[in-house]
Amino acid sequence: MQTIDLVPADPSAGSTAPVDGAIWPDTVEPSVLAALDPGVSDALDRAPDVLVIGGGMLGLATAWQLRLAGVERVVLIERDRLASHASGGAGALITPGTRPWEDPPAVAALAVESAQLLYAFDADCGGATGLRSMDMLTALPFDLPDGFDPAPPTERIDAAGMADVEPELRGAVCGLLVRDQAHVNPLRYAAALAARGGTAATGVSARGFDVDAGRIVAVRTSHGDFTPGSVVLATGRTGLPRPQIPERWVKGHLIGTEPAPFRLRVGLSTPNGLVVQLADGRLVTGGTRHEGDESVGADPVTTDEIAAHLATLLPAARGLRVTHRWSCFRPATADGVAVADRVPGTDNAWCTAGHDAIGILMAAVTGRILAEWIVGGERPDRAAALAWDRPVPADEASE
Ligand SMILES: Cc1cc2nc3c(=O)[nH]c(=O)nc-3n(C[C@H](O)[C@H](O)[C@H](O)COP(=O)(O)OP(=O)(O)OC[C@H]3O[C@@H](n4cnc5c(N)ncnc54)[C@H](O)[C@@H]3O)c2cc1C
Repeated sequence: MQTIDLVPADPSAGSTAPVDGAIWPDTVEPSVLAALDPGVSDALDRAPDVLVIGGGMLGLATAWQLRLAGVERVVLIERDRLASHASGGAGALITPGTRPWEDPPAVAALAVESAQLLYAFDADCGGATGLRSMDMLTALPFDLPDGFDPAPPTERIDAAGMADVEPELRGAVCGLLVRDQAHVNPLRYAAALAARGGTAATGVSARGFDVDAGRIVAVRTSHGDFTPGSVVLATGRTGLPRPQIPERWVKGHLIGTEPAPFRLRVGLSTPNGLVVQLADGRLVTGGTRHEGDESVGADPVTTDEIAAHLATLLPAARGLRVTHRWSCFRPATADGVAVADRVPGTDNAWCTAGHDAIGILMAAVTGRILAEWIVGGERPDRAAALAWDRPVPADEASE
């Protein structure tokens, strides 16, 4: 028998309010917040078909997909509250149309599939995720080369056309417009998934596994042992002592404002981050990337800089009161691509980790891939893009 101890995950582990200050709790009813903290019952199934560890968007979407695939007994355990880390602090843009600029083609295709799963899920549950369609404008401070003609669905917007696309915007030379992208409310999405993903328990921390003959035979937790048929580790980073692809955290900051007196026509992506307007007029902006900063809590200097960028970009926003300032940690890998694979050395455990800046977008398809694999017994072909053993360029291979 071998024991594997999980290393503590997110640097904010143990803090009482991991995404302290985020705007999202102020955008939902108390019933949504209550759904994200069900607590733990004495009657919790200790031997479920699948135990999912981690109640961020990836764990919740995996539990939902397992139930959809017919798995009867799915239990999810979460150390804090559901969606209380990156998943509850994200900007929550759903922008599959921009992924070909950033990701390998196979990952960009997964992003499209994931968005479609999310749209269908939202329709099935009567709009419970807070999904709103929006066009997304990437505003550039430099001109694009003559003849640069992006592939659909991206449209090139030259200087003369920028004011038609977004009259409030200043300082951008040109842009790339992708129509029909979307935004979700991350807490509504998480609560809707939790309602359809078996039984979730909060305040339960996994500490490690007992492994015998290549199988996880017991999961040790703060609330006793579980003996599940299969295990999915969805803890942001794997927490495994030696992941094959080095993992890292990328701290990000966002701010929220009081309602603006104008209505943006589009969501904005800029070199200084994103701007999205909520249905009630409030603006959410930021999305800084601080590699290696493991300090917990929002830095006031950084959030002031985000507010200053907003005022430059949208002069009409100058003077808006900043009501929320927060930060959280993107779980990331050395090469910037997530993992969804078996836990090395086991045949009944899987993990997904490192979704970096697109985990809200990628949750649905990742959950689907893992559910297909667990239920069908074979690795789905499209999971190859998220494999542990993909080659990682040498200059990215150190943590
Ligand atoms: C500033 C910012 C903006 C972002 N904007 C977007 C965006 O616009 N669109 C988008 O798609 N993505 C966005 N992201 C990225 C997205 O938030 C993440 O990729 C995603 O939330 C990761 O989800 P996860 O479930 O893997 O991890 P997490 O949300 O970190 O969830 C992991 C969970 O596992 C739990 N856990 C860890 N260890 C244990 C244990 N031992 N036992 C029990 N539970 C455990 C943790 O408590 C945590 O709740 C943004 C991120 C940041 C920081």
